[in-house]
Amino acid sequence: MSEKLISFENKDTILVSYSMRGEEPVVNEALKVRALPEGSYDKLLEFLKLYRDAVQLVVDKIWDIDEKLSWKKLHRLFYSDLVSMSFRAHHAKEIYVNAKSLVDSARGNSGRKPVLRKLSARIDKYDYKLDLDNMILTLKLHNNYEVRLKLIASRERIEKFRSWSNYELVVKYEEGVFWVSIYFKRIVKSLNSRTVMAIDLNFGNVTLAIYTFDGRRVRLKKLKTPHKKILTHKIWIERIQKKYPKSWRFIKSVRRAIERHGKRIKNISWDYAHKLGDLIAELALRYHSVVVLEDLEKLKENNKKKDKEFNKKLGLWFYRRIQFCIEYEAGERNLRVAKIDPRGTSSKCPRCGGKLVEDGYRVLRCRKCGFVGDRDVTATINIYKKYVSKHSRCGVPGVAPKAPKPDEAPSGMQGNKNEAMTTES
Ligand SMILES: [Zn+2]
Repeated sequence: MSEKLISFENKDTILVSYSMRGEEPVVNEALKVRALPEGSYDKLLEFLKLYRDAVQLVVDKIWDIDEKLSWKKLHRLFYSDLVSMSFRAHHAKEIYVNAKSLVDSARGNSGRKPVLRKLSARIDKYDYKLDLDNMILTLKLHNNYEVRLKLIASRERIEKFRSWSNYELVVKYEEGVFWVSIYFKRIVKSLNSRTVMAIDLNFGNVTLAIYTFDGRRVRLKKLKTPHKKILTHKIWIERIQKKYPKSWRFIKSVRRAIERHGKRIKNISWDYAHKLGDLIAELALRYHSVVVLEDLEKLKENNKKKDKEFNKKLGLWFYRRIQFCIEYEAGERNLRVAKIDPRGTSSKCPRCGGKLVEDGYRVLRCRKCGFVGDRDVTATINIYKKYVSKHSRCGVPGVAPKAPKPDEAPSGMQGNKNEAMTTES
């Protein structure tokens, strides 16, 4: 199982990640809800304190150990001690796993030993029972105590998780309130793809084109990104920081102003990414498309120049956010998402493989065969071709074995700048 990096917290405080298990996408989400213990809070609070102190104890001990600690070793070092402190078997495991990840990330960041203050415990599926029908969560605590909690959430929020499996949760106590984040996952059973949607992201616009497996383009759409708006706020932040180079962190009003612009950037980019993800997935659903994106990690590796341009203008984070939302929305609709290596997608001729040169504003031309095309649309042809050449042999459903012919560009591309530049809707 390959883990993927992205996770985020959106406005509903639902945390999401998206990973691949073989060919099957797995969607993970955490549902965060308030929880009211039935009866006394005492045992649960006692448990959370014990848990925190136990994590701290393990942190303190492994902080000074220089060698690499395997799970086996951690188990040997701490398991029986923790169990004798009245924890259950899986509590013990969660405690040392938690402590190790705290130590690892502290070493990577500040280099200072973590000191735990907050009351929060991660609990394995073996130590709780979740009854979504009655919204009751039963937790198994130390010394075999049990506590029942009433979950406070609307039916609407819960409904979608009924068919998902849950595997872990986190209980927190903050300012007199208990919170539970329950981790759910669902394996996406993907639909068979009938078409390929190739997506090209640029800082100014997003271009998506849908191709049939025999190379006809059936849909083309160009959308503007809000990069200008985001840049404006970025420029404001830089201007303020320049004006108060040393003091901006310490003057409240200045810091506030910066935070305000930062918040705007965050809102604009999330709003856009959500809407775009939704629009793309809806369209892909209508055409039964596999959604093909450029692999941003590879882009970073093999195209330093483009990466630099990205970061200067807007930032790779924005593309990650957009891609994440696309993947997420596609997953919600059981659509396949694939990533291709972006090398050459905007510099190689899709017809003959020759090198493309600029021929006016965002137009590319091939010196060898005379192909002319809009830069972004050309990129979608190349993305499409890369996907099909990689997948037509390994039996992806719906792919005709001899499609597409390598020397045949999808229709409508040659020299027709105007068509490529219009935005269909
Ligand atoms: Zn060519």
